[in-house]
Amino acid sequence: MSKVVDKHESLLMKNNPKILVVGGSDAGLSAALRIRELDSSITPIMVLADEYPNFSICGIPFYLSHEVPDYWHLAHRTRSEIESLGIEVRTSTRASAIDPKAKTCRLRLSDDSEEEVQYDQHHWHRSRIC
Ligand SMILES: Cc1cc2nc3c(=O)[nH]c(=O)nc-3n(C[C@H](O)[C@H](O)[C@H](O)COP(=O)(O)OP(=O)(O)OC[C@H]3O[C@@H](n4cnc5c(N)ncnc54)[C@H](O)[C@@H]3O)c2cc1C
Repeated sequence: MSKVVDKHESLLMKNNPKILVVGGSDAGLSAALRIRELDSSITPIMVLADEYPNFSICGIPFYLSHEVPDYWHLAHRTRSEIESLGIEVRTSTRASAIDPKAKTCRLRLSDDSEEEVQYDQHHWHRSRIC
C-alpha cells in the first residue's frame, strides 16, 4: 500500500502527469476512467491498435446477424465522449516496444511512421496479441 501511495505522490509532483494505457477496449478504458476518477489532474493516454475505442466485442455476433445494423452502434461511448472525460485517445496506434526504465514507449502509427512517447506510468491492457 505504501508503495502505491509513494508512486501517487511522486506522480503528483509532476506538472500534468501522464499515464500510458495500452489498449482501448474494456480493460483499457476501465483503467483510464478509474485513473481520472482517482485523480483528475492526471491525463491517461490511451493507445489502441484498432480504430474502435470502447467497442462491445461481445456485440459482434449481433452485427453479423443484422440485429445491430450499424457497427458504430456497438460503441459504448464515442471517441468524443471519451475525450470529453479527459482521456487522450490515440487510435490506429500500436505500442511496439516499451522501456520501463526510461519510461518511454515506441508507437507505430497507421502510416508506418514511429514515435516515442514519454510517460510517468504505464498500464498494459491488451488481452490479444495484435
Ligand atoms: C464474439 C465475442 C463475444 C463475446 N461475448 C462475451 C460475453 O457475452 N460476455 C463476456 O463477458 N465476454 C465476452 N467476450 C469476451 C470479451 O469481449 C473480452 O473478455 C473483452 O473484450 C476483453 O477486453 P480487453 O480490454 O481485456 O481486451 P480486448 O477487448 O481484446 O482489447 C484489446 C485492446 O488492446 C489493443 N491492442 C492490442 N495490441 C496492441 C498494441 N500492440 N498496441 C496498442 N494497442 C493494442 C486493441 O486495439 C484493443 O483496444 C466475447 C468476445 C468475442 C470475440
